[in-house]
Amino acid sequence: MSISRDLAQHLRYYQDLGVEGLSRDLHWRRREGERKPAQTEASEAVPSTPPAAAPQSPVIPLTDASAADRLVVIRAELGDCTRCKLHAGRTNLVFGVGNPDADLMFVGEGPGADEDEQGEPFVGRAGQLLTQIIKAMGFARDDVYIANVVKCRPPNNRNPEPDEIAQCSPFLNAQIASIKPKVIVALGKFAAQTMLGTEMPISRLRGRFHEMGENVVMPTFHPSYLLRTPAAKREVWEDMKMVMQRLKE
Ligand code: URA
Repeated sequence: MSISRDLAQHLRYYQDLGVEGLSRDLHWRRREGERKPAQTEASEAVPSTPPAAAPQSPVIPLTDASAADRLVVIRAELGDCTRCKLHAGRTNLVFGVGNPDADLMFVGEGPGADEDEQGEPFVGRAGQLLTQIIKAMGFARDDVYIANVVKCRPPNNRNPEPDEIAQCSPFLNAQIASIKPKVIVALGKFAAQTMLGTEMPISRLRGRFHEMGENVVMPTFHPSYLLRTPAAKREVWEDMKMVMQRLKE
């Protein structure tokens, strides 16, 4: 069963239970990435006085579930994931970040060391270059949505393995189905080949739009490749200009 159908079933299940809505928790709405709180003695200590009552979160009727609410459910479904062996080496699960209603989504391969440390995709050197590209396109990072094929860092930055992709990609598909971006930019060979189900080299995939079900994908070179091969920035910019044009249509 697809994760989107799973999600719909999950929401109906909540409804059947009599749950009236989902929490509109600002932290989750802003950034769905999980952060492991620093383990301090204070945070582990049993408080001597009961904490002040937390303000009641407003609830959203499930029938009106927004993309943001659906992302919250998908993140909750992932939980403290142990579905594949990558969980053993992670510091933080890197779910995704950005605007749940984004027209433009970027998908990379998987978290690196910086992303694993911070719980947010594309925050290292390659991420800084991606941020520059996003700005050059006239957007802020907060305008777009950024995620990866796998949510946990592969050891020594190796490529994710088929069993890891099989476990994790339904969650990416569910994120895409919730956000419904007009265009998805697949960053690098791995994301492009995985999403499009092809072994065609990135040099042949890039530069044109590909249909992926109801979605449109523009493959381009990965920012890490651009750090090693700055001359390829020109081709990436050609790809991004096509994306900008498509977003205007
Ligand atoms: N490379 C990726 O593919 N994803 C990240 O989040 C960071 C680097």
